[in-house]
Amino acid sequence: KIRTRIAPSPTGFLHLGTARTALYSWAYARHHGGEFVLRIEDTDVARSTQDSVDQIIAAMNWLGLSYDEGPIYQMQRLDRYQAVIDQLIAAGRAYRCYATPEELTEMREAQKARSEKTLYDRRWRPEPGKVLPTPPEGVKPVVRFANPIEGDVTWDDVVKGPITINNREIDDLIIARTDGVPTYNFAVVVDDWDMRISHVFRGDEHVNNTPWQINIFNALGAPLPSFGHLPIILGDDGLKLSKRRGAVSVMDYAANGYLPEGMLNYLARLGWSHGDDELFSAEQMVSWFDGTHLSKSPAQWDPAKLDWVNGHYVKQIDEGRLAALVVAQLAGKGISVTVAQVQPKVGLFKDRCATVAALADWLAMYFVNVAPSAEDLATHVTEAVRPAIAALAARLGAVAEWNKANIQQALKETLTAAGLKMPQLAVPVRVLVCGRAQTPSLDAVLEHFDQKKVLERLQSL
Ligand code: GLU
Repeated sequence: KIRTRIAPSPTGFLHLGTARTALYSWAYARHHGGEFVLRIEDTDVARSTQDSVDQIIAAMNWLGLSYDEGPIYQMQRLDRYQAVIDQLIAAGRAYRCYATPEELTEMREAQKARSEKTLYDRRWRPEPGKVLPTPPEGVKPVVRFANPIEGDVTWDDVVKGPITINNREIDDLIIARTDGVPTYNFAVVVDDWDMRISHVFRGDEHVNNTPWQINIFNALGAPLPSFGHLPIILGDDGLKLSKRRGAVSVMDYAANGYLPEGMLNYLARLGWSHGDDELFSAEQMVSWFDGTHLSKSPAQWDPAKLDWVNGHYVKQIDEGRLAALVVAQLAGKGISVTVAQVQPKVGLFKDRCATVAALADWLAMYFVNVAPSAEDLATHVTEAVRPAIAALAARLGAVAEWNKANIQQALKETLTAAGLKMPQLAVPVRVLVCGRAQTPSLDAVLEHFDQKKVLERLQSL
């Protein structure tokens, strides 16, 4: 059975890279009718918080990445890790190491001085014919895995292809700290084994950990999962995507008016392709995502492309839902309105918006006065055009039924009487009423205002 997992450390929000890994793991499980597990790797007790777990779960829910098991917390499995450690020690595959940090520093300095790789020298590893030192008083030991000394570790990475590491290049990994808490590389193996994970997708930064993990799987007699290491995501400046260089949290994008459909679609393409398809739903992705066509090279975060993808969904989703999202965005700006007030207006603007936030920016003018810039006033609302604006206000004031056709009629009559062309009048009207010089068709924009409001703003000169 195909079983995948996402195993975030709850030390912050759901990072874009982790979200992409979660998406691929989820899609792979769904594609095969398998199962997807959420595991919380909270052994870094000092930095792990429940708030972070809640945020991670909120982001998974927002993206629609449903999991079949979890959240499973590593800190609730300490007894199990201890039992496996005891079992490894009893089998001679792990041992206690009493070397102090000072001793180890000294060892590494000496290795460096000899231009050697800094690897633990196995001083506490029981070996035939070797006499171990007496454990020093008062030093709490760590537990180390007795890594094979010879031979290669090889796996066929789902993303990178075959990888081989010689055991001479890796040392005896610490699997439990002095306080008994297991380290990442050990807990992850016990968990992936116990949770019967068949495919591990994770970030590239873990590729160096995999040889250790494979050796531990083998020492436990556990079946090996397949591994796929996804390349890093670079920012548009070519550097690793990081908080310092813009939003890296999925929920920040939600707050900034991106849609889960857009985010999921964009993340999917960041390291995976299906022919020339750029726009597709989660369902389509699931039907296509078979673990092939994963990119080996780093992905580049491209805000313009994200906007293009997201804009597609802004146009496409149900207008009631879009209106509700606009209401939430406006509430964030302190503008309190109802879906009923917003919904009739979204259709006129949504085609030009990449995000719900951009749409809310447009619609705000219907609910609060958007003051024109001094520059727009000076450029467009000239002395010469003011009489025509006053004439238009008079005609609009006389309109009995406030609709597009009648507004258009008033505009036309005013143009003819003043001998002006449409833009000469429409631009200053936009500036006064909407607070900006460019809008969709003026009659359609004005129709959505209260007649009284339009007159007020035209007469505000
Ligand atoms: N907790 C690890 C991380 O956040 C999980 C790595 C893995 O998937 O094995 O990177």
